[in-house]
Amino acid sequence: MTVSQWQRRIARAQELAGQHPFAAEILGFYVHLARFQENLQSKLSRAMQSPAASLDRELTSSEISELGSSFAEFLSLAEAKGPKPLAELSRDLRSRGPDFWSDLLSASWLAPSASDAQQILSQAFLQPCAELLRSRAALRSSQSAHALCPFCNRKPALGVLRQMGDGGARSMICSFCLGEWDFRRIVCPGCGEENDKKLAVYTAAEFDYIRVECCESCKIYIKTVDLTKNGRAEPLVDELASAPLDLWAREHGYAKLHANLFGM
Ligand SMILES: [Zn+2]
Ligand SMILES: [Zn+2]
Repeated sequence: MTVSQWQRRIARAQELAGQHPFAAEILGFYVHLARFQENLQSKLSRAMQSPAASLDRELTSSEISELGSSFAEFLSLAEAKGPKPLAELSRDLRSRGPDFWSDLLSASWLAPSASDAQQILSQAFLQPCAELLRSRAALRSSQSAHALCPFCNRKPALGVLRQMGDGGARSMICSFCLGEWDFRRIVCPGCGEENDKKLAVYTAAEFDYIRVECCESCKIYIKTVDLTKNGRAEPLVDELASAPLDLWAREHGYAKLHANLFGM
């Protein structure tokens, strides 16, 4: 299951990079990142045998040491293949050494939202670990009225619309553990606004299956991938490829609920 999901994302990133030259650099790096994440996840799934009761706990020292041994490799990859700001940050972090990395990974694991670029990068590294523990976690329900992930309490990275009856039902995808939970369509995930006159949806011809859902009350937006319009989309990847929509939203005074690894 896990393998095919990574491979689907990689194939989609390669396909979209060919269609959208402006996103080719980001997607090219994403392909390297996803391959690394897939390998890390299968390594962790062998090394971390104990079932996890929840994600809401500190990493154990053996988990930290297991992760720390892969972090240098991750930083080297981001330095060699990443866009310039990520490459520079990775070079700097690589020079700090194992004790610094352990502290950074422990803090990033617990941080409810990444406070700076170091933590954003660290959470991208930790994401396969969070996803693995979530898949083993006791909480199986995807039902939540909450704007935060019911598994790990992080903000959603994006929304998706899936076919249900005659329409599409919206769910949110976690920015950290990639958990998915139901979320009503006419509610702002930023502030809970329910007045549909305050909740605007924009689309652009180039990405007609991606909705930019904006809230006039808190000026937050989130992108939602409409799988009823484009069944080929891989939500995480299409979200990255549609960076022009983020620029548009920013120019119109909206801030994203949760920025991705590339600061979009
Ligand atoms: Zn989560
Ligand atoms: Zn709002």
